[in-house]
Amino acid sequence: MFLGHFAVAFAAKAAAPRASLGSLFLGAQFLDLLWPTLLLLGWEEVRINPSPAGGPPLDFVDYPISHSLAGVLAWSLLFVMVPFLRDRKWRTGLVLGGLVLSHWLLDLVVHHPDLPLYPGAPDYLGLGLWAYPVSENLLEFALLAIGVLLYLRATRALDDSGRRGLWTLLGTLCLIQAGNSFGAPPPSTAAVAWVGQAQWLLVAWAWWVDRHRDTGLRL
Ligand SMILES: [Zn+2]
Repeated sequence: MFLGHFAVAFAAKAAAPRASLGSLFLGAQFLDLLWPTLLLLGWEEVRINPSPAGGPPLDFVDYPISHSLAGVLAWSLLFVMVPFLRDRKWRTGLVLGGLVLSHWLLDLVVHHPDLPLYPGAPDYLGLGLWAYPVSENLLEFALLAIGVLLYLRATRALDDSGRRGLWTLLGTLCLIQAGNSFGAPPPSTAAVAWVGQAQWLLVAWAWWVDRHRDTGLRL
C-alpha cells in the first residue's frame, strides 16, 4: 500500500483542519518513514525478491518496531500525546494517532502475511491483496481520488503554488505507485532504505503546498 496511506492523510484534513497536510502525511506514512532508518541501523530486515507473488519485489523479513501491531499502537499513542502536550490539541492528536494506526490496517489488507502482532510473535498477518495487482492498484487510486476530493472540499488554493504544487505532488505520488507495483527490483537493500528516506521530501512538499492553501478557518 502506498497511495492509500496518502489518501487517508488528504481526507483527514477535513477532520483536523488546523493540522498541516505535512503533519497528516507524517502520521499516515510514519511507519514507512521510520522503517528505512531502522533498516540502515540493522534493527529491521528486508530482502530483495525478484519474483514476488504480487506487490513490491521485497520480502519483509523482520520489522517489529515499525510494523508490529503492538509497536504501531505505541507510535499511535505518541502521535495522540505530542499535540496534546504541546498545546492541548486533542482533536489534532486523535486524528494523527488514527492516521498512524490506519497505516497498519491498510497494510494488513494488501501485504502477504508478514505483519506481526507483537515483536517475536510466531504468526504473521496479511490478507494479500498484492497477489491481485490490478485490483490492488484500483483500490489505491480510488482511495486517492476520494481523499483528494475531500481535501479539495476542505481547502482552496491561495495562489498558484497551492494549485500547481498540489497537482505535481499528486502526479509524483502516482508515478511512485506505478514504480512500486511494476518497476524493476532495486539493486540492494541499502538502495531500498535510501529511496525510502526520500519520502521525507513528500512530507516537506505537502507542508509547503498546505501553506499555500486556506481552510477558511480563522486561526
Ligand atoms: Zn507500511
